[in-house]
Amino acid sequence: MRITREFLENVLKLKNVRDCGDNFMASCPFEFLHTDGKDSNPSFGIHKESGLWHCFACGEKGGLTNLVSRVLDKPPLVAAEIINGYFSQKVDIEKLARKIKSFEEALNTENIKTTNLLPQGYTKNLPKNVINFFQNRGISKGVLEEFEVGFCSEGVYKDMIIFPVFVNNFLTGFVARVVGENVVGKKYLLPKGFRKALYNLSPIEGCVYLVEGPLDVLKLYTLGLRNACALFGSSIDYFQVRLLIKHGVREVVVMLDGDVVGRNATKKVVELIKPFFSKVSILNLPDGLDPCDISERTVLRMLLRSVMDL
Ligand SMILES: [Zn+2]
Repeated sequence: MRITREFLENVLKLKNVRDCGDNFMASCPFEFLHTDGKDSNPSFGIHKESGLWHCFACGEKGGLTNLVSRVLDKPPLVAAEIINGYFSQKVDIEKLARKIKSFEEALNTENIKTTNLLPQGYTKNLPKNVINFFQNRGISKGVLEEFEVGFCSEGVYKDMIIFPVFVNNFLTGFVARVVGENVVGKKYLLPKGFRKALYNLSPIEGCVYLVEGPLDVLKLYTLGLRNACALFGSSIDYFQVRLLIKHGVREVVVMLDGDVVGRNATKKVVELIKPFFSKVSILNLPDGLDPCDISERTVLRMLLRSVMDL
């Protein structure tokens, strides 16, 4: 393969490229994933011969096609063509296309048995009690289908609702929730190694409503508010902030649960995110009301009008 400095600097526009024998080092192109959002002391290394790369700061790694695809924001097949136009050792386009196709087919299969991303026993066929659970909350069947909400009848997540987590339409993992309301202990179970992204995040121009859980998102979606994202809890971290920025979010309305925990958390979330967005507002829900308890479009519209600008 023999990666060149010219390729890294001119095609991928990497900064601070340094020759280190078998490898090049450079500032990480994914520095928005770093804790401080920077990579002033280059942590990104790429092996000249194989094109394999790894960043010691954010832990991202992969092959050359993956790197080109992500840095230039092109589909993998286009990235492979760019590489093939540049280097003598070619990426096998047909093989790559087959790989992508089988991955997509696996995602589309009605009942996925085991993948790394969804738990064993996941099915989109929801049992009656789960359908009732959502119906009682006014979440429509169409929305459940759209979000590929599923159920586990066996395995570690037996009898739990499964919410696949998509970022940018890509499946990145899942969270599980017990069925029912009056539950002792935790309602949600996050799989080991689950990296909190945001539920329902896709490229957006403008405003996002931040809520606590997937149920809030699904309820608001049913009521016609499609740009709500869930934090998987009442706090936000820098990784989530960077994801929002990366997806084009400019304005944020914080809409956490209408309880003591939610109100206290709102202050912290606002403090943390304020420097990063052009506008941050708060929507304080009435006492005891969570976004998923809002019952009608009209109520929602009234609430949205009461957004407090900061
Ligand atoms: Zn990095």
